[in-house]
Amino acid sequence: MQKSRFEKGGFPIEGINLALCENPLPPIDEAIEAAKSAAYLSNHYTEPYSRKLKERISDYIKVPVEYIHINAGSELILRQLFIRYGRRVHLIAPTYYLFEEIAGNKTYTFLDEREDFLFDMRDLDIPEDTTLAVIVNPNNPTGAVFDVKENIRIIENHPGTIFLIDEAFIEFGGKPAVDLILGYRNVVITRTFSKAFSLAGCRVGYAVSNRELIDYLDSQNDAYPLARTAEAAAIASLEHLEKIQERVIFLKGLTKDFAGSLRDLGIATYPTETYFFLGKIARMDADNFAETLSKRDINIRPLHHGRLENKFLRFATSTPENNMIVLEAIRNILK
Ligand code: PMP
Repeated sequence: MQKSRFEKGGFPIEGINLALCENPLPPIDEAIEAAKSAAYLSNHYTEPYSRKLKERISDYIKVPVEYIHINAGSELILRQLFIRYGRRVHLIAPTYYLFEEIAGNKTYTFLDEREDFLFDMRDLDIPEDTTLAVIVNPNNPTGAVFDVKENIRIIENHPGTIFLIDEAFIEFGGKPAVDLILGYRNVVITRTFSKAFSLAGCRVGYAVSNRELIDYLDSQNDAYPLARTAEAAAIASLEHLEKIQERVIFLKGLTKDFAGSLRDLGIATYPTETYFFLGKIARMDADNFAETLSKRDINIRPLHHGRLENKFLRFATSTPENNMIVLEAIRNILK
């Protein structure tokens, strides 16, 4: 019971929830207004395959619409890619917990605590028979970036492997790799409006890849994947990218301060480019720490990973007010 509470959504709305890696800021006003207006048109379907949003995404990422598939959140796309290609998966761990959950037969490249969980992509090597190699950039749970393009050779040398690059947090840091799909048929990028755009509850995600794979995804899914309201919110957010970028900078500033305050309390923190990061508790185990915080209505995700001690948690910044509450709670627990 407790386990599934931590592994899926369903945390209480009350309290402070740092466990789902949500953007702590609400959607921008323009997105909310656009969703409200679109609600009046909800007796009509959207254009097939959310063509209107596809066009805006195409402008945003500079890739033709034919190479873009939209769906109700990127998790839905990721699950389909794993079903189709995940016979032998290679993960860079620790990674996004969903991948551990849905990958059956898997091999690993382990990030090293002694290297601050940073990794030089030129050192990435995968078994010959890998069908799906997954790179989360920036990574979750570390928040650190990988320079995917440093190792194009691995993509060239494994034409039978699909390289899945999950760019859920790319607006926060790292070099986008979407242009790779124009040169390599074995690359697929997934993205989401859940993170930088604060639209997790709207469920808008997309994949970028070769036409064949995109046609396949379109043909296997609902021709009207998004609610009009969600589509309108996503379009409005893309029309105000400057606001999104300002908020990215704001959140990164909060993260830096929050991590600094945790270090002052004796919690080691590791490099990040996003609004979350790994922390290591010296004096108690991570499960215990998370459990104690949850009693104070603060939910945080301990990291369960075979190679690591039970000392690591993924911290995330919340609003400045909430961060003060979280820090006060931690101060009391570690007293
Ligand atoms: N990829 C990563 C790395 C994530 O952290 C998440 C959400 N936590 C997702 C994909 C899924 O996002 P969504 O389904 O909301 O688009």
